[in-house]
Amino acid sequence: MTSERGKADPGASTLEQGPSSGDPTLRRRIEPWEFYISYDPKELCKETCLLYEIKWGMSWKIWRSSGKNTTNHVEVNFIEKFTSERCFHSSISCSITWFLSWSPCWECSQAIKEFLSQHPGVTLVIYVARLFQHMDQQNRQGLRDLVNSGVTIQIMRASEYYHCWRNFVNYPPGEEAHWPRHPPLWMMLYALELHCIILGLPPCLKISRRRQNRLTFFRLHLQNCHYQMIPPHILLAAGLIQPSVTWR
Ligand SMILES: [Zn+2]
Repeated sequence: MTSERGKADPGASTLEQGPSSGDPTLRRRIEPWEFYISYDPKELCKETCLLYEIKWGMSWKIWRSSGKNTTNHVEVNFIEKFTSERCFHSSISCSITWFLSWSPCWECSQAIKEFLSQHPGVTLVIYVARLFQHMDQQNRQGLRDLVNSGVTIQIMRASEYYHCWRNFVNYPPGEEAHWPRHPPLWMMLYALELHCIILGLPPCLKISRRRQNRLTFFRLHLQNCHYQMIPPHILLAAGLIQPSVTWR
């Protein structure tokens, strides 16, 4: 993806100065602590954060901003803002990328689906750090409906954390390379569960919380249907099956 800052400020100066020096995107950046807490895959914080990018037609320019829940969920706020501020012809293409700390609930999924059906020139890619109430059948169906409407949904990986850190976070001077490196295990667990959701399988990830000591437990419970339906390369990458070797 193209970096606005990279275009405006070529050279190595960003490494020494951080994003604050002459950066037109600064006022839209969030603070590092906010990014850490909101997007930590093992923290079940209540707030939802949205970082988004909008790209019009063939233009290289990327518009970036962020949003939070108000009385509405952040997804609905985005749609309301986007449709009220912009009036564009359906022949103009628009690519939107969201980096969401929680996946959309079923009501937001419905609103997104409706928004996309009214704006056929819009494509939407959603990266999520965590799956919101993923055992809820309505939420699972909502995500499936989004995928069936052409939305790409993926779990945030290290490359997305780095991308967000560079482009959305007001990181301290010289800290461009110090983006949060969350353990890949949680990303793998959520990625497996997202596969289950999209394939219409029962949940394989159980998350429980002990209120007394505020510990969160992630447990993987794989059934035969999971082994049969989840693509082997995903199971292999997660270390859940062994590669088969043929000896001659
Ligand atoms: Zn929602």
